[in-house]
Amino acid sequence: MIHFVSKDHHIFKFSAKKDPALTLNPGKSVRLETMDCFSDQIQKPEDRLEEVDWDKINPATGPVYIAGSKKGDALKVTVEEIKINDQAVMLTGKDLGVLGHKLEGFHSKVLPIKGGKAVFDDKTAFAIDPMIGVIGVAPEDKEINCGTPDVHGGNMDTSLIRENAVVYLPVWVEGGLLAAGDLHAVMGDGEVCVSGAEVSGEIQLNVALVKELNLPTPLVENEQNLAVIYSHKSLDEAVTGAVEIMEELIKGKTGLSTAEIAMLLSAGGQVSISQVVDPLKTARCEIPKWILDNYGFSLY
Ligand code: CA
Ligand code: ZN
Repeated sequence: MIHFVSKDHHIFKFSAKKDPALTLNPGKSVRLETMDCFSDQIQKPEDRLEEVDWDKINPATGPVYIAGSKKGDALKVTVEEIKINDQAVMLTGKDLGVLGHKLEGFHSKVLPIKGGKAVFDDKTAFAIDPMIGVIGVAPEDKEINCGTPDVHGGNMDTSLIRENAVVYLPVWVEGGLLAAGDLHAVMGDGEVCVSGAEVSGEIQLNVALVKELNLPTPLVENEQNLAVIYSHKSLDEAVTGAVEIMEELIKGKTGLSTAEIAMLLSAGGQVSISQVVDPLKTARCEIPKWILDNYGFSLY
């Protein structure tokens, strides 16, 4: 049986104070119905942006209490399916995104999704590549709005978080309090205009529990690579943090020296930008799993 949480159960802040919408046993799957990041407020090209309620940005469906999870554990969340609805929205404007200083007012565009493509205009259609923008758990002793990424996950806007990816989220409070939303039909790394192709839909997540993994920040694993995701006010610090945490993770599980790890990451790894437009910026450090396998690395 797959549990279901409707979009009526949503949060705008990751917080230990939120009542769970559902309690899930580890190993089970849950389907979350999600609104788009504007709480579905823009439906037609003529919808007036002045009417967007900015307190209703980035709703995440949940939270889901994961039975038996405690601080120091990790939720191993496998993205089993991302189903998106048939129209996406993009938004940019004054002081939004990398080019916001060159813009006046708000600008939005509705992208119909047809035949596996998000139609931008009569010249350009993007092949859809659905991903999850917001996925996280409650932080330890504060509340964090759903627009901000940090070590609890949240608005990481990381394009690796697509179907079949595994997201490891460190648990900070009992039950974890998992929530997710902010689907993108497609998004380029950086998310420079401040939005991807924002879309509502449904996500199916399988949630397993890894006891006492003690991760300092989320990881994402796919068929090829393991990635450390790290966010900071400064992009430089986000990159340094992601690389340092990767180094500590590999060192702790292989006995390789820092110099060897630095060289392996430099020759075979990849440092990338997830997004540069949220209150904290997000970078990632990826390493192919075949390299880790050579040194007997195992995450748990
Ligand atoms: Ca986002
Ligand atoms: Zn989004």
